[in-house]
Amino acid sequence: MATVVMRLYRGACLAPSFGHRSIALRSTVAAARSVGVSSVKALPDRVKIVEVGPRDGLQNEKTIVPAEVKIRLIDMLSEAGLPVIEATSFVSPKWVPQMADQVEVMKGIHRRPGVIYPVLTPNLKGFQAAVKAGAGEVAIFGAASELFSKKNINCTVEESLQRFEEVTKAAKEAGVPVRGYVSCVLGCPYEGKVSPEKVAQVAKRLYTMGCYEISLGDTIGVGTPGSMYEMLVAVTQVVPVDALAVHCHDTYGQALANILVALQMGISVVDSSVAGLGGCPYAQGASGNVATEDVVYMLHGLGIHTGVDMAKLMDAGAFICQALNRRTSSKVAQASCKL
Ligand SMILES: [Zn+2]
Repeated sequence: MATVVMRLYRGACLAPSFGHRSIALRSTVAAARSVGVSSVKALPDRVKIVEVGPRDGLQNEKTIVPAEVKIRLIDMLSEAGLPVIEATSFVSPKWVPQMADQVEVMKGIHRRPGVIYPVLTPNLKGFQAAVKAGAGEVAIFGAASELFSKKNINCTVEESLQRFEEVTKAAKEAGVPVRGYVSCVLGCPYEGKVSPEKVAQVAKRLYTMGCYEISLGDTIGVGTPGSMYEMLVAVTQVVPVDALAVHCHDTYGQALANILVALQMGISVVDSSVAGLGGCPYAQGASGNVATEDVVYMLHGLGIHTGVDMAKLMDAGAFICQALNRRTSSKVAQASCKL
């Protein structure tokens, strides 16, 4: 196992992000090596998978997916044992027409005991509508990149955080847990590299305003195990590691490697999307979130418990791919199809 980890970091050290090898970068890689080796035994026994396919994934589909398909997908995912399923988003249908059926979806799903169905709420109005529709948990999102925030939600990072404070305050009063997302943690389509310190700053703000869990999102999937390591070193200094999750897109094929690094650093919550649903509107030809099937395959291979039934998960993936008339992005599902 130790050999595998060493190889992993050797690979990272040759990756383009380490381009010119300054002394600082060399020491980072050296530190990464030692952390990788020493923390292998610290791999978690159990990982909580947060399934984001029905929201983050379907939101990027151009054709409107009928509410009954979304409901069936969510029900299949809960039957497969996923403990958290992000169900929909309470944004204005003007911004995201795909999520206009949010109330119908929330009312239509069969809530499995013990499963949490968070919804995205960008502002107070969305929060109130979500609670009215029966949401027991909500999520808010901040960006670590100023330009991304400006272009995406038309305000500065600070302004967006102030807006979320209204949501977290109302949520606290209503006893509704809030999950926070930080996007662009390993790179931004407009700014390029995003500093780990900026990510740490935004994550800390979300944590101190009451988010119980902060999901660090590599929104455009440009991260490598090297940059993931650097970013997590900065963030874990200001937010407890058990309050952190990673959310990796697989654009450059690095998602599983990045997740493995996060696990080695003590993180035990991973976001993923069934069949790798989703895309990235900011990077042409980009693939979506890392596929849940692939994450589960890796975790089970490491002897880590997830509570997920792989066969039922694959059925959910096959169902949504058929409904969308698209090919699965999960390597595991692709491989199993040929058996
Ligand atoms: Zn995502």
